[in-house]
Amino acid sequence: MEIIESRAATVGGLGVRRALPTRGRRTVGAWCFADHMGPLDVDDRTEPGIGPHPHTGLATVTWLLDGELLHRDSLGSEQPIRPGQLNLMTAGGGVQHAEEGTGHTGTFEGIQLWVALPEATRHGHPAFEHHAEVPHADLGVGTASVLIGEFAGVESPARRDTELVGAELRLHGRAVLELRPDFEYALIVLRGSASVAGTPVEPGRLVYLGAGASELPIEAPNRCRAMLLGGVPFEAPVVMFWNFVGRDRAELAQAGRDWNAGHDRYGRLGSRLARIPAPDAPWPGV
Ligand code: MN
Repeated sequence: MEIIESRAATVGGLGVRRALPTRGRRTVGAWCFADHMGPLDVDDRTEPGIGPHPHTGLATVTWLLDGELLHRDSLGSEQPIRPGQLNLMTAGGGVQHAEEGTGHTGTFEGIQLWVALPEATRHGHPAFEHHAEVPHADLGVGTASVLIGEFAGVESPARRDTELVGAELRLHGRAVLELRPDFEYALIVLRGSASVAGTPVEPGRLVYLGAGASELPIEAPNRCRAMLLGGVPFEAPVVMFWNFVGRDRAELAQAGRDWNAGHDRYGRLGSRLARIPAPDAPWPGV
């Protein structure tokens, strides 16, 4: 078991705690990115939001604890999301989207996750799914909301391109969770604290649990909310640059140049927020 500190980052002016990737841990199954966003106090002058930007080679998973966002993308989707709902956008070879505020005020908090796509679908067509609710599993001392994959006997209807699981746990007490030995897992505590196999974990830390375990003892003396991520170790090392996931530097640098040149692969999207240009790739000569 490894404890990995999240690092502070800013996305569209919003402070986030980035739990994945970190120097020591790039992926957990196909999960390759995890930003805990907020909590942020939203009033008339501040709103969460990020202007049109592209993705390739990944799926975005958006899950809110508080507040609202409006998802808009180049497929024509225009979908508000609220706590308990799931937005899943599969980029394939290229898509663009924006996240806008809805005018909702109060607290905003959520988690933005990326799933690396396998070779079979990473160059494919983009797609978007909204799930107005996800299934819940009763854990005795709490519940699990199963965003993707199967957990505690409950399966999400959301698309998945590899064998993986994402479930938000709400716990108050001691539980032993059943795991798949062929999966590796990590836990990100979002609120409260939990003791995982005797080690205390709080927001801002990711616990990497590795593979091979069939159960996870966890204790939440106070109310705890945490995201459990798992999956079969990914098929290949992933390379990431800005909003792109791939297999080598050249294709990622090209994805950035294509975005800045207005290439058709990303479709079209109008937004009242400003389009975000791709930075130069950090690899000279690529
Ligand atoms: Mn995005």
